[in-house]
Amino acid sequence: MPPFMAMTEETKKKYPFGVKERIARLEPYRPGKPIDEVKRELGLKDVIKLASNESPYGPSPKVLQAMRQTIKQVNRYPDGGCFYLRDALAKHLGVEPNQLIFGNGSDEVIVTALRAFVQEGEEVVIAKPSFLIYEIASCVVGAQVKAIPLKDFQYDLEGMKKAVSPKTKMIFIGNPDNPAGSYVSQKQLENFLNEISSQILVFVDEAYFEYVQAADYPDTITLLSKYPNLIIARTFSKMYGLAGLRVGFGIARSEVIDILNRLREPFNVNSIAQAAALACLKDQAYYRRIAKEIEEQRKFLYQSFEKMGLSFVKTVTNFLLIDVKTKSDEVSCRLLKKGVIVRDMAFWGLPTFIRVTIGAPSENRKFLRVLKEILKSA
Ligand SMILES: *Cc1c(COP(=O)(O)O)cnc(C)c1O
Repeated sequence: MPPFMAMTEETKKKYPFGVKERIARLEPYRPGKPIDEVKRELGLKDVIKLASNESPYGPSPKVLQAMRQTIKQVNRYPDGGCFYLRDALAKHLGVEPNQLIFGNGSDEVIVTALRAFVQEGEEVVIAKPSFLIYEIASCVVGAQVKAIPLKDFQYDLEGMKKAVSPKTKMIFIGNPDNPAGSYVSQKQLENFLNEISSQILVFVDEAYFEYVQAADYPDTITLLSKYPNLIIARTFSKMYGLAGLRVGFGIARSEVIDILNRLREPFNVNSIAQAAALACLKDQAYYRRIAKEIEEQRKFLYQSFEKMGLSFVKTVTNFLLIDVKTKSDEVSCRLLKKGVIVRDMAFWGLPTFIRVTIGAPSENRKFLRVLKEILKSA
């Protein structure tokens, strides 16, 4: 969508006080349906959600304990600077505390980076399909989005490089990518950074970092010393299972973080989220066990799909794309009616694909059972 667009007559009538035309036309983010909504709407008792790449497991006992203690003090504003969390995370990552910014989810870090560094009329390069927030947030700041199709479900970095123009200000690399589940290697990323002007920010979104086992997955933090135009985002929403609390973070050079901090809302990360995230860092063993279990379930799902003759995209994350070889909107709708929420990829331009989060063993078995039934009768 062009960044400058006059209000149409229709928009003027609806919003006589005026609104940016591009905002009036914005496609809102489509979240996975919440479990309770599906139970209510379809009158179902047992509903499993495999649609938003959440962890199937709740916080560890130590994390719950930290949350309980904080609840008593919610009459106070949270620590706007996230002092204890910042300190612990900086040590955990081997960076300086002033190289971190915390957000109300890493979504907020993405949005803040765009607001800070991209002006109306400038360009942002993303992959297609990729995480919807890149496009929505770019559109909000009036940037022109160039979306470069994945090649064989992998980033086409060559194509993205070619899409760069003098107006390009930011490039998003979902690593691993959502929804493809594939990743860009250390070598690929370094080559790319070497060829991209330092006048363009490269935003590497590592929301699934903690799940990736691949030996050639990039160590982006060490790249920060060489590339001042690099921003990294990670989150406590995925492997750490705190999606409902909203806490994510960005890592960059301190000059970049300084700018982001000026735009941030003063109390953007709530006190319970700060305490829980800090406790997660101190309870690594619990979360590594979960990551390991997801890995085992991933292998189990691969084998099951192979037996069913279904093709799928190999993933390094806790979700995967499956080609159901028939209309994905019908399949996901029928799964929903049986109490299994998955993501239909038709809207992402993949009309025979669904994206499924790897759940707990019982959830995965239920999903497979229902999917088999549906595909047999399709
Ligand atoms: C889930 C996800 C995020 C962010 O989640 P938050 O809950 O806002 O931290 C960011 N990027 C990708 C690719 C994701 O899938």
